[in-house]
Amino acid sequence: MSPRRFDVLVVGAGPGGSIAALVLARAGAQVALLDKARFPRDKACGDFIGPRGLKVLDDLRIAEPPGLDVGDMVVVGPTGRRVTLPCFDGESYPGRARAVPRAAFDDSLRSAALEAGAIAFEGRADRPLWSDADLDGFLLSDGSELRADFVIGADGATSRVAQSAGLVEGSRVLWGFAVRCYLDQAVALPAITLWEETRWHAFPGYGWIFPGPGATANVGVGIGTLADRQAGAGAVRMLPAFLEHLVHLGLLDRTPVLPLPRRLGGWLKMGMVGTTPAAGRVLLVGDAAGLVNPLQGEGIAQAMTSGRAAAEAVLVSPGRAAACYRDGLARTHLPYQRITAAGHAALVGRPRAVAAVGRLLTAPVVGDALAGGWGIFWNELLDGAAPGAARRVATASTWLGRAVTARTDVSRWFTDTYERPALFGRGR
Ligand SMILES: Cc1cc2nc3c(=O)[nH]c(=O)nc-3n(C[C@H](O)[C@H](O)[C@H](O)COP(=O)(O)OP(=O)(O)OC[C@H]3O[C@@H](n4cnc5c(N)ncnc54)[C@H](O)[C@@H]3O)c2cc1C
Repeated sequence: MSPRRFDVLVVGAGPGGSIAALVLARAGAQVALLDKARFPRDKACGDFIGPRGLKVLDDLRIAEPPGLDVGDMVVVGPTGRRVTLPCFDGESYPGRARAVPRAAFDDSLRSAALEAGAIAFEGRADRPLWSDADLDGFLLSDGSELRADFVIGADGATSRVAQSAGLVEGSRVLWGFAVRCYLDQAVALPAITLWEETRWHAFPGYGWIFPGPGATANVGVGIGTLADRQAGAGAVRMLPAFLEHLVHLGLLDRTPVLPLPRRLGGWLKMGMVGTTPAAGRVLLVGDAAGLVNPLQGEGIAQAMTSGRAAAEAVLVSPGRAAACYRDGLARTHLPYQRITAAGHAALVGRPRAVAAVGRLLTAPVVGDALAGGWGIFWNELLDGAAPGAARRVATASTWLGRAVTARTDVSRWFTDTYERPALFGRGR
């Protein structure tokens, strides 16, 4: 089949790829938006779009799809004690998240990108195509070729683009695996649950029960595995026990009948570490770039903001798009990701330490005193937070985190990758 050439090939039409394609197409670029799935497609997710994701929709004048607004969140500690994390309006983001099933949310973003002029292709990016040592496009599963001046890898945690361009150091990546199902139950407040498999032996992740539209609950479990992807199966094994635990806590009315409805799992690539986000004519966004929050697993907003940033780098500085994009990511995410990635790497594999942190953060007095700042800090909302006591707590947590993690291997990786640009030898 004859090859087709575009200004930009966007591989993956999740939130990251669709926002990138929309911004590029609105500016008049010729964009191919490729996905291996036929839309609408489901995606394993808690279905919460965070405040910064809603801000992107607002900025780009994209209508919010039907869903449910969500504010405060409850954290249940290992002892069963509960702390409510309040949700505040920031100066640069709204004080709410929104629950929208991913099948509908992703389809609406992709439709918006196509309306803006991006051209849809269905197929798997299979074999990389090269031109003068630069990735120039892909041979698709159906034998056709797509080539472009830039390739944006928005193809999720196990990104083929990142792998083809040699941008992932597998042994350094902070992998996680999470699995969810949908249950018919109204949920008053979203809850995240930390628990211990035996006393002082914490599960290396957390579970959640989130409200969804129409009195449904999205319930799931996520596990951190560091570089060991075999360990991801632990989340699937743990799900039935977690549902029992929710019944015991009074957060679920009854034990669901097996098989669990619409159970679906997926990988999370967290904390940026181990992935070089851009080089030459390739830019990675969202999960492909490993932008998922290493403390609480959020990644939709990061996919949307990075998709937009990658598109703007290509439009504004085509001669040095990779460097511009990398610098922007560093400004936006490094203050948070370098310390939380280091913290995550240190804690996974130390169940007693995880239990101690969980118990401390939900202890009487301590938990309630820290709740406001905790909500800002762990949702990566410090930049743009409204002034006040909660912001001061989040700022102090950031300084403390920086001091504690400065000499870790993970922190050194960030220095080498983001503060020594010579390593990005391929220039642009
Ligand atoms: C169980 C679970 C719960 C989660 N809960 C939340 C939550 O509540 N809130 C939140 O913010 N984040 C959550 N996350 C993370 C969130 O799902 C991701 O961060 C987000 O989907 C990233 O968007 P993306 O556009 O980078 O990638 P994706 O949404 O993964 O989209 C990638 C797209 O690329 C396509 N693709 C992949 N490979 C190829 C290929 N070779 N060729 C062509 N197309 C390809 C796929 O079909 C897919 O459509 C959760 C993750 C999991 C697993």
